Amino acid sequence: EAKRQGKGRYCGYLPTIAARIRERLEIEQGLHAALAENQFELHYQPVVDLKRRCLIGFEALVRWRHPERGMIAPDQFIGIAEESGFIEPLGRWILNTAIAQAAAWQQAGAKGLLMAVNVSARQFNDEQLVDGIVTMLARHGLAARQLEIEVTESTVQEFHRSKRIVDTLRERGIAVALDDFGTGYSSLSLLKHLPINRVKIDRSFVIALPGTARDAGLISAIMQMANSLDLEVTAEGIETPEQAAFLNAVGCPAVQGYLFSRPAPASHFTTEWLCHYRESDSFQVNPAA
Ligand code: C2E
Ligand code: MG
Ligand code: MG
Ligand code: MG
Repeated sequence: EAKRQGKGRYCGYLPTIAARIRERLEIEQGLHAALAENQFELHYQPVVDLKRRCLIGFEALVRWRHPERGMIAPDQFIGIAEESGFIEPLGRWILNTAIAQAAAWQQAGAKGLLMAVNVSARQFNDEQLVDGIVTMLARHGLAARQLEIEVTESTVQEFHRSKRIVDTLRERGIAVALDDFGTGYSSLSLLKHLPINRVKIDRSFVIALPGTARDAGLISAIMQMANSLDLEVTAEGIETPEQAAFLNAVGCPAVQGYLFSRPAPASHFTTEWLCHYRESDSFQVNPAA
């Protein structure tokens, strides 16, 4: 009796596991066709300078417009693409599309915008990465200083190799940001060894702000560390004017979040929009001011 019950319980999980495996397979198999059929798109989220209240640039974020499932978020397929090796062609498409877009905005008159692009582990550790990027920059006529590569701790797999890649990127004038800063185990050790120029404070630290003395203290400590290491800082996930005001007060000028704009297709950011928001005082961020 107990055995049958146990078996029944066990069987209860099977459809879920089977469904997950099937979904995963579907995604993995669908990726190739999706790239060929142009189903990937990049959305861009503005990065705002709180002090000058103007647009600094954008982060490119990939989405998959699936014909049956609708819009699929990157968390649903980047990991699978990474494991299957598909991230290599997809990553090239992402970089090329983001660089082309930044060049188009530059030519349309919104000068000097920064374009931040996320790069995953396999893509980052590919020796061809830097040459590929340099070729894309030349092809589209974008200055290297307008590109920033975002890596996370998990991107750095083999330390010496990663250091070599970050060094080469920096030599070519391309900035490197450490994304999701503070969420992993070795953020500080990476900062010690890699010539990164920016940290992106993870949304999980921003959510509670101004919050308790402890929440506020953590952010202030990150700012102090960044100042002494000469690192730039961007805070992610700003949703309220209070969070923006707090970050501004502790000297974190660069922020992104739904308060300013959700990620949106390039067409949303018209030339008029870009030129307006490039100007100082165009973002009303501090309700008290
Ligand atoms: P991330 O690079 O840390 O990107 C920030 C995520 O936070 C984005 O989610 C963005 O839409 C979201 N976000 C921004 N502001 C707010 C806010 O105010 N509130 C909330 N709740 N969320 C906010 P998204 O686009 O779903 O991307 C998730 C993750 O997927 C990214 O985290 C990044 O790790 C990865 N990813 C996205 N695009 C790419 C890509 O092109 N290549 C690679 N390798 N990974 C990517
Ligand atoms: Mg990012
Ligand atoms: Mg992040
Ligand atoms: Mg993330």
